[in-house]
Amino acid sequence: MRIPLIVGNWKMNTTVTEATRLVHEMLDRLDKIEGVEKVLCPPFISLVAIQELLKDSSVKLGTQNMHSEAKGAFTGEVSPLMLVGICEFVILGHSERRQYFGETDEIVNKKILAALRNGLKPILCVGEKLDENEAGKTEEIIARQINQGLSNVAPTPDMVIAYEPIWAIGTGKAANGEQAAATIKFIRNTLSKLWNENAAQDLRILYGGSVTGSNIGEFISQPEIDGALVGGASLKAEDFVSIVEQTAAIKRV
Ligand code: PEP
Repeated sequence: MRIPLIVGNWKMNTTVTEATRLVHEMLDRLDKIEGVEKVLCPPFISLVAIQELLKDSSVKLGTQNMHSEAKGAFTGEVSPLMLVGICEFVILGHSERRQYFGETDEIVNKKILAALRNGLKPILCVGEKLDENEAGKTEEIIARQINQGLSNVAPTPDMVIAYEPIWAIGTGKAANGEQAAATIKFIRNTLSKLWNENAAQDLRILYGGSVTGSNIGEFISQPEIDGALVGGASLKAEDFVSIVEQTAAIKRV
């Protein structure tokens, strides 16, 4: 049984004051929703304040990135050791990190290995660009991102994969549920070849890209889709709570 998972990626939004206000706006309602794992990924600077707010709740904390090294001369970076005990999940290989910060599959792979070594649960983001999609290269791109991103990673249910077609992120143009489910099925097949069938069945695969309270039902009603990585809509308390509530209701059936 894969427990549904909804992750809010706040990206580079919210001051510490705004972040704590946003948590106050949604925490009581989120906390009461059962049957879904709920994760908030605020900016690094708000992690400790939010950890305190979430400490007696069922809502978990994640981060949006980290460095692969434990410590050293890497000005401005945050190491896995600094995150242990503060958060449980770490988003890695987000397309914005790949596009604006030059993260390659090799870098992402090092980060995944480091996260798992330190007991953090990586959420590996994969997805194709619009031109790659139009050229029929979606599967080729995703197979590469998975095979290289998970190189030397032993099978573990602590990994999460998020399929995020780049043309759907922050654009308001979500994929449709059937398209997303077909690609997620391909991801699970790729994993069963890389790992094995049981390990692939145990791993949660999310959809991400312009998910809102109005379209979550389309994705979450697909048995292949175990949850969502939500960007813009996770900054709106009503929308995010509604996404989690609908997920709980649909997956419970
Ligand atoms: C994301 O940040 O991973 C994302 C999917 O963003 P949005 O929901 O805004 O498209």
